[in-house]
Amino acid sequence: MAEYDYDLFVIGAGSGGVRASRVAASHGAKVGIAEEHRVGGTCVIRGCVPKKLLVYGSHFAEELQDASNYGWTVEGMKFEWAVLRDAVLRDVTRIENAYIATLDNNKVVHFLERATITGPHGIRLASGREFTAKYILVATGSWPVTPVFEGSDLCITSNEVFHLPTFPNRVVIQGAGYIALEFAGIFNALGAHVTVVNRSDAILRGYDKALCDRLLQITMARGIEYKFHCPLTKVEPSPEGDLLATPGQLDPIRADVVLIATGRKPKTEGLGLESAGIVLGKNGQIAVDDHSKSVCDSIYAVGDVTDRIQLTPVAIREGHAFADSVFGGNKRKTAYDCVPSAVFSQPPLAAVGLTESEARNKYGNIKVFSSDFRPMKNVFASRHERGLYKLVVDANTDRVLGVHMIGPEAPEILQGAAIAVRAGLTKADFDATVALHPSMAEELVLMR
Ligand code: NDP
Repeated sequence: MAEYDYDLFVIGAGSGGVRASRVAASHGAKVGIAEEHRVGGTCVIRGCVPKKLLVYGSHFAEELQDASNYGWTVEGMKFEWAVLRDAVLRDVTRIENAYIATLDNNKVVHFLERATITGPHGIRLASGREFTAKYILVATGSWPVTPVFEGSDLCITSNEVFHLPTFPNRVVIQGAGYIALEFAGIFNALGAHVTVVNRSDAILRGYDKALCDRLLQITMARGIEYKFHCPLTKVEPSPEGDLLATPGQLDPIRADVVLIATGRKPKTEGLGLESAGIVLGKNGQIAVDDHSKSVCDSIYAVGDVTDRIQLTPVAIREGHAFADSVFGGNKRKTAYDCVPSAVFSQPPLAAVGLTESEARNKYGNIKVFSSDFRPMKNVFASRHERGLYKLVVDANTDRVLGVHMIGPEAPEILQGAAIAVRAGLTKADFDATVALHPSMAEELVLMR
């Protein structure tokens, strides 16, 4: 008889958990997985996927507006939130089902209920069933953090934003990070009046300052209002049935929806980790080593719950490396250098490697090349918005340390550049590459 019911039991069927269970099973492990919400996790159910579809949906506003310059007459144009919302939610269900099929095809036994840990090898499901596993992987992700103030319970988070019953014509968004600026772009493009309120005057902290300034300038011109150094102090219902949101000492702003986007915190509450001797970090995270192992030898953790880099592809890498290391006889780590990232704001930002200030701190002697250009598409559409690309280069070795871009399709373009940065290519290599003309991407090889 086997010593344990499972070789691996995974808690959380999001990006990291599903990848780890599928790969572990392909290596011959007997795998169980429990999920208390929906299979697919934040990325599929209430994050990257539905957000990107809303971004696509909202882009039509700009395309339709520009269409007449290209000879098109579009009559009777109208937008229906319910149509877009329901189509997006249907696609989310389609992908969820594909994830479930992946688990089934790999003979991963799934339980659609909450699981908690009862000891280094023990799991208890909400229904009361108990299992043992040689290894437990915690991949429970993260959850929105919402500051508490008067009326904060009247606000929504990114969990609820995809389900709004009607389109909000006036939206107040607290925070100026990824989620805040992506939804500011979506609602603004779809015709809402958007006000972003933030506790500091920094948007997208961690991204190149010049790119952030460019985003601020373009989005303000597009009609998004910003209120800095004044986080919300109060939200109350008005006699007219909408909301009054008060930023700091400023006058209240009328809103149909107040969205809070002030970061996400590892989802570890009540998981029973203490029963295995695991003490949580200050954000509630599970501390792990380079191989995603916690202080308990049989318990590993991957993804947002470890509070390393809160990005889906990173969780997937960690889950894959864990499964290969523990079940595939191929012990390996996840590389965290040169992780590309993007903000699907309008226009979007994308970056890989070191920012100018990080590179200066680390290498001292650096060179910065930039291209500040008006994309051909914008010129033709009489849009004055300009793209900005920057290359950060080590002056001693000529190695490109970072690529930073804002402009249409920046994330699509950056993925290729990320390969070059990761491979350690030099500015001379970029220069030696023939431009692909006419494109925006060619700016990457034309900076002198
Ligand atoms: P971010 O960390 O990106 O931004 C949080 C924002 O909220 C910042 O502007 C911050 O201000 C502000 N803030 C933080 N705490 C408080 C507080 N207590 N009161 C008032 N304001 C506060 O978080 P998000 O929620 O936007 O996103 C969470 C994570 O999800 C991201 O870090 C990212 O990793 C991931 N994500 C990735 C996406 C992508 O890859 N495209 C898309 C969406 C999410 P300040 O800067 O001053 O601290």
